[in-house]
Order: sequence, then structure tokens, then C-alpha cells
Amino acid sequence: MNRVALVGAGPGDPGLLTVRGRELLEAADAVVYDRLGTERLMGLCRPGARLIDAGKSPGRQALTQDEIGRTLVGLAREGLRVVRLKGGDPFVFGRGGEEIMALADAGFGVEVVPGVTSAIGAPAYAGIPVTHRAVATSFTVVTGHEDPTKPGEQTDWEALGRVPGTLVILMGMGRLRAISERLIAAGRPADQPAAAVQWGTTHRQREVVATLGTLHDVAAAHGLGSPAVVVIGDVAGLAGRLAWRTAGPLAGRRVVVTRARAQASDLSERLRILGADVLELPVIRIEPLPADDAIRGMLARLGDYRALVLTSVNGVEQLFARMAERGLDTRAIHPDARVVAIGPATAAALNARGLRVDVMPERFVAEGILDALRGVDLDGAPVLVARAREARGLLVDELRARGARVDEVALYRTVPEDAPDADVEAALRADYVTFTASSTVRNFCALVGDRLPELRARVVSIGPVTSRALADAHIPVDQEAGVFTLDGVCEALVRDADEPA
Ligand code: SAH
Repeated sequence: MNRVALVGAGPGDPGLLTVRGRELLEAADAVVYDRLGTERLMGLCRPGARLIDAGKSPGRQALTQDEIGRTLVGLAREGLRVVRLKGGDPFVFGRGGEEIMALADAGFGVEVVPGVTSAIGAPAYAGIPVTHRAVATSFTVVTGHEDPTKPGEQTDWEALGRVPGTLVILMGMGRLRAISERLIAAGRPADQPAAAVQWGTTHRQREVVATLGTLHDVAAAHGLGSPAVVVIGDVAGLAGRLAWRTAGPLAGRRVVVTRARAQASDLSERLRILGADVLELPVIRIEPLPADDAIRGMLARLGDYRALVLTSVNGVEQLFARMAERGLDTRAIHPDARVVAIGPATAAALNARGLRVDVMPERFVAEGILDALRGVDLDGAPVLVARAREARGLLVDELRARGARVDEVALYRTVPEDAPDADVEAALRADYVTFTASSTVRNFCALVGDRLPELRARVVSIGPVTSRALADAHIPVDQEAGVFTLDGVCEALVRDADEPA
């Protein structure tokens, strides 16, 4: 069975995607998306998934509806699991129906996953309920796309001027003045409360509350434009009392996350909860190394190691992936082997795979591991250190100096990832750039090239090793995490943002 899924992405806050939508997105081979409301969800897609932007982007026209239909049919014919991802709800001014017809004509079935429409979601995030007891018993959603001064329009603005209840207008910012005048002429009181919510539910959300007669001027004075939802009716007057979103300590700060795409979301999510406007600029990608003699030897000797040292979540993932390829699980590991994790994230990854961690250093760096193993007799003991190809040799040298027979096995490498110029540009002008590994520092420099002196952002480092890599690259570190974890990075950012400039 081959069905294309038409999925509503919600209005922008990634938390508003449905559970079913997320399942489909994570499994998709191809995703055809419109930018509005969907940007932050692309990180959920599989690394190899084909991502096709159907919307307008700088220098390029949007695909026409026909082209979108043909693209979807083409992908479905290839036998791919296809998701058509649309902002808000696919059937609220989303042309979802047309796309289903195009697919049906070609013989393909469709699954529809409704989404939170911006018509309700954006006002909700501004503290405006579209209905409220004794204030509004109905709401009408209408497009403002049609020109109200031209004959032949389908929207009956006269009727909308008379109908009680809340009026919600999408795509109305361009014609807000004409629409307001028309509604007032038809009987809506000019002093009725009215609001515009731009980029609703996202970190960029801004709203103004005025009256029907003044909304156009007030929005213009505040520089508020598309995309926005306009809400006309007494419920708009509740915004002040019902506002529920509080600005986090990083509100209004643009923070760049340089981790690999597959890992960025851990940090990005934490930052967004703190109110930051996050830009993911994945400067590296994790690539498993082909199974060589070292890896094969390691798998054969798993039962011999008296200590297993893991220095990253990637290392854990790769180790277990290699074991699984051989049909091995934790039973292949010596029952008395000490399991050493460099920090809490690595420990959690091991725990999740059923391997309890015996040793975790107080300082989450290689030197900390050596401290934590002080007092453990390593003389002649076979020890596995599983890590990235370009990792530092210090740990292994020290373990060897203490008599351990170390197998140092490189399981993956980090390779540079390219980025669009616009993202590099935005990163240079951001408020903060975060670095969580020395490999990201090197590749960030490679990506930015000779524009590095233009870096305006303040720089936050996860710990001393990363800070040293930054110093080597002549990038001054403004804050270093006190605890070398992602939470530590967040704390350092909040601390920095708190300090008077
Ligand atoms: N299917 C979408 C609407 C698509 S029409 C939905 O259900 O939300 C595009 C219009 O939706 C925009 O012009 C704007 O009026 C509105 N819109 C979409 N996302 C928005 C957001 N995050 N904040 C404010 N308005 C939004």
C-alpha cells in the first residue's frame, strides 16, 4: 500500500505538531513542504530524506499547484513514503483538497492528518480565545486575499459586517485598511476591539491590539505585516487579561547551534524553552567508519575488556550499531567490565541500551576519566576506548602509561557540512554562537572562511577543550559552561544574557 500523507504542521511552534504527524514525518522518504509554519520540523526528518521546498524562497518562485500535484504523484510513483507538510491545517486555505484530487486521479490514496490552524492557534498564543462565554458565541474564518474593492469577489463583506461573533481573517494584512472600512460601512462598530498576531506561536510572535478603526495604522506603526492573523471582535479585548506566554530569559536573543543536524534538537529545544530564537547551523555530520580490522577485532574481543570507555553519545550509538550488525548485545561484554562514560548524556545513552555506568567523572573531560579511574588497577587490563577518528590521544596515552592494554577504536568521524550563504550570514549577525565540541569549531571556521572577522555574536563554549580549539582559531570565548553539558551551556547563556551590557 502506498499512500501519501497530507499533514498539518500547526502554525509554527513545533510542539503543536500532532503525534501522528510526527510519526509520518520521521518515517518519510520525501517531504514536500511550504516554509510557513514548517521550518522547525525539518529536523525530525531522516538524514537521507528528500526535502522539497514548494513555497516561495528568495530568488525563486513558488511551485504552482499543478507542479506540486505532479511532484507528489512522481514521488509516490517512485514508491516513496511521501509527506506533504502544510502550515496550520491542510484544509484551511491550504489547498489540501486539490492535492488529494491530483493524487486520486493518478490512483494514489491519501491519509489526512489535521493540524492546529493559525486561525485559532495564533490568537490563542496572544491570549485571545476565539469564543468566550457571553462575549462571542461564534467565529467566522475568512480569507482577506480577495480585493474588497473589486467587483466579482466571493466574500460577502456586507454580511460579515453584520454577523455577530468573532471574525478571523487570514492573509488580510495587505488589504487591512480596505477590509476594515468595508466592515465598518456594513455596521461593525469602529471601536470594536481588534488584534493582529504576526508569526503567531513562534519565537518571533508579535501582536498589537487596537480597534477595528485603528488596527491598520497601529499595525503599520509597529511594523507588523504578513504573515498575521487578524481577529476582530470583543474577544480581542481579552488579550491583556488572558495573556499567558511569559518571555523566557533568552527572549529576543538569536542563538546559533552548530551541532550535527541529527543532534542539534537536544540543545535547540532547551534554548527555545528559554525563549531563544534558535538558528541551527549544522557544521558537521557524523559518518560511521567502514568496518576495518580494528572494529572487527574489537567485536571479537568484547568479552575480554575489563573497562569500556565511551566519550560521546555518538560513540555509544556507533558501538551498539556495530554490535547489532553482528547479532551481539550487552551479553557479549565481560560481566565484570567497568563501564566508563565521560558525562551524563553518554551515561544516559548507555543506560538506555541496558548498560549500567560504573564510572562517571566529576569533570566531563578526558582528564576527568583518568581521575575517576585512579585507584583502579589497570595493569595489564584490556581496555576499550571507543571514539571518533579525530579525537585527542591524551586519554589513551595516559591509560597506556598506567599499564592498560588499550584498544583504541575509531567508530565514526565528523565530516564538514555545507550551509546556505544566508544561514552563514545570519550566524555571523546572531547574538550568540554555541560550540559543543572542538570538531564544530574547526568546521565552523572552514564554513565561514575569511569572513570570520565579521563575527558579531558572543561565543559560548561547552568546556575547556572546546575553548582551547576556539582560542586556536583566534575566536575569543565570552562564556564557558560551568558544567560541561548542554544544560551547562544553557546556564552560561542565561548568565551572559543577564549581565548588563
Ligand atoms: N493552512 C494554514 C493557513 C494558510 S494561509 C492554517 O491553517 O493556518 C496563510 C495565512 O495563514 C497567512 O497569510 C497568515 O494569515 C496565516 N498564518 C499562517 N501561519 C501563521 C502564523 N504562525 N502566525 C500568523 N498567521 C499565520
